[in-house]
Amino acid sequence: MIDNSKLEALKKLIEGATCITILTHPNPDGDAVGSSVGLRLLLKALGKEVYSVVPNSFPEFLGWMEEANQCLNYEQNPPLVEEVLSKTDLIFCVDFNSISRLNGLGELVKQFGIPKVLIDHHLFPEDDFVLQFSDLTVSSTSELVYHIAKELGLRSHLSVGAAEALYTGIMTDTGSFSYASSNPTTFHVVADLLELEINKDKIHQTVYNTFSEERMRLMGYCLSEKMVVFKSYKTAYIALTLKDLNKFKYKSGDTEGIVNLPLSIHDVNVSVLFTEQSDGSVKMSLRSKGEFSVNDFSRKYFYGGGHKNAAGGRMSMKMPELLKYFEICVRDNADEICKSI
Ligand code: 5GP
Ligand code: MN
Repeated sequence: MIDNSKLEALKKLIEGATCITILTHPNPDGDAVGSSVGLRLLLKALGKEVYSVVPNSFPEFLGWMEEANQCLNYEQNPPLVEEVLSKTDLIFCVDFNSISRLNGLGELVKQFGIPKVLIDHHLFPEDDFVLQFSDLTVSSTSELVYHIAKELGLRSHLSVGAAEALYTGIMTDTGSFSYASSNPTTFHVVADLLELEINKDKIHQTVYNTFSEERMRLMGYCLSEKMVVFKSYKTAYIALTLKDLNKFKYKSGDTEGIVNLPLSIHDVNVSVLFTEQSDGSVKMSLRSKGEFSVNDFSRKYFYGGGHKNAAGGRMSMKMPELLKYFEICVRDNADEICKSI
């Protein structure tokens, strides 16, 4: 149940806004795009002028969502985003909770001083929002958008396209309903989205079974050539350099899901994917099974964060140095990692 006074405040903010912009995090995933598109279609159904802005491109396997191709990409066209922000009266931030994660786009947003509403499910939101819907118990931001829509009495304004976008966000953020983050309420929400006659089979097929040949081979290469397992620390990692990525004609989204693969090993409780970026920094994706919090681990050592079992980070060290540092961090936490499950 969402606090009534917050819902009333949100209603007033939406009623008072003509032009609304929805922002989400860099390297947008299924929940980021799903919640942004779902919310946009809902607000458009209320007669608002609404824009979804993404900091950079998202994977092709999310591009089928209704009007996904109308998301404005800041990296590709900063002036267009600036023009949209100059007429925006209200901003929604979905699936992330700190404007500083937006880098250049974040700086631009700060200059405009537009009121911001948060809809998110990550720990430690910034207190830079006029209104916060921050719920750590929901499976995904897309689920939270559904709850807000329903409690505002707007369920009947959810189109099939909006429902499909929200379903995609829930499906991808829960590992197809398998992670601990999905709970009985999640399944009630999913049941209701199915009542809206979404095509779930098409969604699963499009999101999961449309790999390019190169992406599939990259996955095989990661497992056979690149995976390192520290048996005594119950930890595995895969480190991909730009050279590796180029070899497989890397496109945005091609490494999606790879970090989860080592967790299928019986005695691996933590898995990390290191991906070298074109600016020389390294993006980290961390996953865990059981009680060990990769959110705490990433906050403490890698300037990152996220959730207990799924977090990210970014380091400016060179890959070989970073891997040495990582091994030390893992060794220092080996007891906690090993007793995670
Ligand atoms: P992924 O590994 O899929 O990129 O990210 C996993 C989770 O961690 C997502 O919920 C994502 O929003 C969060 N995350 C990823 N990178 C960062 C980061 O640099 N900082 C913080 N605070 N969260 C991150
Ligand atoms: Mn999410």
